Amino acid sequence: MSAATQYELFIDGAWRRGGNGEIPVVNPATEQVFASVASASIEDLDDALAAAERSRGAWAALPACERGALLIAAARILASRVDEAARSLSGEQGKTLAEAKGEYRRALEMLEWNGIHAEQLCASLPIGAGRTLVPEPLGVIAAFTPWNYPAVLNARKLGAALVAGCPVILKGAEETPSASVFLVQALQDAGIPAGVVNLVFGVPAVISEHLLRSPVIKVLSFTGSTAVGKHLARLAADNLQRCVLELGGHCPVIVCEDADVEAAAAAISEYKFECAGQSCNAPSRVLVAKPVYEQFVSKLVDVAKSIKVGAPDAPDTQMGPLANGRRIDALKRLTEDAVAKGANIETGGRRLDQAGFYWPPTILTGVRHDSSVLREEPFGPILTVAPFESLDDAIAEANDTEYGLASYCFTASEETKRTLAGSLTAGAVSINFLRGVAADAPHSGVKQSGYGYEGGEQGVRSFQNLKLINGLDALDR
Ligand code: NAD
Repeated sequence: MSAATQYELFIDGAWRRGGNGEIPVVNPATEQVFASVASASIEDLDDALAAAERSRGAWAALPACERGALLIAAARILASRVDEAARSLSGEQGKTLAEAKGEYRRALEMLEWNGIHAEQLCASLPIGAGRTLVPEPLGVIAAFTPWNYPAVLNARKLGAALVAGCPVILKGAEETPSASVFLVQALQDAGIPAGVVNLVFGVPAVISEHLLRSPVIKVLSFTGSTAVGKHLARLAADNLQRCVLELGGHCPVIVCEDADVEAAAAAISEYKFECAGQSCNAPSRVLVAKPVYEQFVSKLVDVAKSIKVGAPDAPDTQMGPLANGRRIDALKRLTEDAVAKGANIETGGRRLDQAGFYWPPTILTGVRHDSSVLREEPFGPILTVAPFESLDDAIAEANDTEYGLASYCFTASEETKRTLAGSLTAGAVSINFLRGVAADAPHSGVKQSGYGYEGGEQGVRSFQNLKLINGLDALDR
């Protein structure tokens, strides 16, 4: 990408500069500005609202299989551009090139999965006794995606909304605009009708307030922090817009005495430090059975120390910089608070002394209960590790958080698996398994981690009204 790259808005089927100037895009590995993204004015947003509303009827009326075919075509086009798209994503986000390519592979799977299942996801659902449910698109979606996994999150939101028959106004992340631009460009090149997909960037609070004040918007789909999610849900309340909120997490892992302790440490480290730990699903608190605690910590620290931190485009780099300076400030504050309250830094614990937002894998032990790092979502490469005496203690500790997104455990016992599956309070419990959510699975949080489903069949239902028809067995269109 050239130093002069200027990312634009896409409104009513055409790319345009924004009416509110430009926002600089910073390379987190160098802290240098290397691109800019257009900032939308109120007029740009009104144009997007009008275009989306104009396109609504025809898009909803298109047979579902045709909407699906368009998504599959877009996925093929994007697949042919993955090398270039991944280089841009790595440059603006800081994740390694390999991680960026992996993210695009997942994004393609999301588009394809929705495309392939389009007909089935829009077919009427007989419920017996001469009654049927007819899925109808709810209308124009306002979608907001963050900077950590912009390709996957855009694909998950756009794939489901478009298949459901809903036009979208997507506000991409200003810090990582290329992932939104590549995806929307692929949809345009596949032939998406004007107005069905609109892409805006700008001042987030201005955009969300203006869009959610409009009765054109029928659903809010947001991924980001709990604080912003609550603010947007309040705005959406005035128009009773349906909300899908994917918010923060503070995910526990329980490692039992009967687990393969060394394999668990390696698997936790690999998943945790992907994207420099900036994932809502990343584990952040490890609870280890006392008899294997020392063995686990020693292995985890060895693996964490061996991770090569460096420039995201260097072939031997395993972890790049954090995405922005805000994360450095937060990690510094959380680490200093924990240490002041008696925690030990087993490895890492301070910013690397070089240009770029580099913070190494950090393991903290002996963390006191009232430390901020156990309460606030760290959203970075910090793991706390603590021993537990009994499974009941571990469960209580794991659930002792306001978040409820994902929980993990490692055990060989079938009985323990069942106990933990039933007693961990989270949208998902993963047993001897750490991986991102696949395209066919619904993803949702409980407690302060949000509500509403993304992904899989339930993700498409988020954008549909299931109209009950009494007196018909089916209504296929
Ligand atoms: P932030 O809360 O300022 O922003 C988070 C996201 O929300 C960004 O994409 C931002 O552009 C957007 N946003 C902020 N205010 C908005 C508004 N009024 N209207 C619409 N969108 C708005 O925090 P940040 O520093 O960018 O990110 C750090 C925190 O965000 C983390 O602690 C984490 O909790 C959360 N986060 C969560 C996810 C996730 O996958 N759930 C992803 C990214 C960030």
